[in-house]
Amino acid sequence: MTSTSTPNISLAPYRHVGGPDTAPTGELESFNPSTGELVGSVPTIKPEQVDAVVAEIGQVQPFWAELSFSDRARYLRRAAQVMTDRKDEIAALLTAEQGKVRTEAYAMEVMTSIDSFIWAAGNAAKFISDEKIKPAQPFMKTRKMHFRYAPIGVIGVISPWNYPLLLPAAEIATALMAGNGIIFKPASLTCLIGQKLQEVFDEAGLPEGLMRTVHGGGAVGQAIVDSKDVGKIFFTGSVEVGRHIAECCAKQIKGCTLELGGKDPMLVLSDANMAHAIDGAAWGGFANMGQTCSGIERVYVMHDVADRFINGVVERAKSMKIGDPNQWSTEIGAMTSADQYELVNELVEDAVSRGATMLCGGPIPKDQLPPERRDGTYYGPTVLTGVNHGMRIMQEEIFGPVLPIITVDNEDEAIRLANDSEFGLGASIWSADREKALAMADRVEAGNVWINDHMYSAGICQCSWGGMKDSGLGRAHSKFGFYEAVEIQVQAVTPVREASMWLHPYDETVGPGIRASIDLLYAQGGDKFRTLGESSGALIRMGIRSAQQYFRK
Ligand code: NAP
Ligand code: MG
Repeated sequence: MTSTSTPNISLAPYRHVGGPDTAPTGELESFNPSTGELVGSVPTIKPEQVDAVVAEIGQVQPFWAELSFSDRARYLRRAAQVMTDRKDEIAALLTAEQGKVRTEAYAMEVMTSIDSFIWAAGNAAKFISDEKIKPAQPFMKTRKMHFRYAPIGVIGVISPWNYPLLLPAAEIATALMAGNGIIFKPASLTCLIGQKLQEVFDEAGLPEGLMRTVHGGGAVGQAIVDSKDVGKIFFTGSVEVGRHIAECCAKQIKGCTLELGGKDPMLVLSDANMAHAIDGAAWGGFANMGQTCSGIERVYVMHDVADRFINGVVERAKSMKIGDPNQWSTEIGAMTSADQYELVNELVEDAVSRGATMLCGGPIPKDQLPPERRDGTYYGPTVLTGVNHGMRIMQEEIFGPVLPIITVDNEDEAIRLANDSEFGLGASIWSADREKALAMADRVEAGNVWINDHMYSAGICQCSWGGMKDSGLGRAHSKFGFYEAVEIQVQAVTPVREASMWLHPYDETVGPGIRASIDLLYAQGGDKFRTLGESSGALIRMGIRSAQQYFRK
């Protein structure tokens, strides 16, 4: 079935996992948001069982950490091959459970996840192998020093439901390549996809028990955060839960990375390629039914091109194909979460009641849907004008297909409004003038700024992923993602015959010698030579002392 050979690496024996302490105690069901049908279920555990699961992972992880990067990489490449072989089944599950339309299931999740495995496999050695340190201080030149990037141990990965495959896949790949074990808690709404990711690694032959996927709601996530043997938390989700997790981690002096919400602005300048900007707005705002942390949620368009832009976006929105997410041509499926559907409706109604104009969109009447989809949470691509920053819709995250548009008089106003948000995940600037757009990007408070496109770098693991302000803390993907998955240790070797000049006893040699060295090393111009003249005696005495120490045993 596969073209990659099965890794044949012997790990020292580890305890078989899944003992009585960690046996499942319940069941979590998962439903298709487009039809309401039951898709499947997973076993759950109780929060009080989490420590035992972590302990089991902790028994396997040290053996995994002994492997070389190239040996670990073989498992990751094999997982990439398994996912490639099973792409249709995985994409179909994404569509059934999360509601992502078929094209997006392949483009935004399956392809990017496979790429993240292959990239992590191929690049860990480059970023987190031992790294030589070259001290610049002349007295330290004889020291041999390097950074060692040590595994943290067991990392807790807690994920949301909007990109239920890519988000955990990329983080898990990075953490595994860094030598860690994983306890993974998928969102309850997409528990089956989480379990599928576990299956992929199991089929790839990952040492049994090194990665464990657990279900059981937020309380199980909380138990992972609280578990003293989980060394770090990689959390992706809402600001509210993220802030709470950060507080819990702070109490334990435990690290966490937080990939939280967004309220991304799109800035459309007068010289933008209007056809691209219109299509880009529709894709950035409506892809994944607008349930993307870095989806476009605010548009600031220059007044001289506003009419053409707004008309174009409305026309595009009205032409989008809504319905069966299994069809290649469907562009809008059902929203994943009924709660979010209600919230989107509430935010749009609030804006309209305060004077906004809804040019298209809103909840799709049931009689306009095929009979088998009438229980689905379908919300039409919505365009609003007449909005302002006093409205909730311009401040709170909208996790739905809604584009509120504001016309601005100049670029400074666009930047001021773009930065008028608690979030800072992504932003895009649309202009034919690359230099101007890049200069504007410097002024935008966001972890990612795209010129003439939006959000796609989340799927490119060479790029860092993360936000400023309330959008998060730390970075996933790229070399920075690897640095999040390790403890940084300095290893410094003093040659065996050498004694540091600052050792006891303190006398007329050490202090004056060091004092003279300061001028010798750091004084500017003539002062350096004046000191040399005055203090040469102290320096010579210190040199003699060092030489005597050299011959001690
Ligand atoms: P959420 O409610 O914060 O949940 C995220 C995860 O945390 C779920 O697995 C959830 O479990 C778990 N959880 C809930 N309470 C917990 C607790 N006390 N301790 C530990 N874990 C807990 O977020 P969501 O509604 O699933 O996802 C939507 C949010 O994610 C949006 O705000 C979106 O912007 C953000 N997001 C950010 C990024 C990014 O990269 N910056 C990417 C995607 C999404 P249950 O599902 O079982 O409740
Ligand atoms: Mg939630």
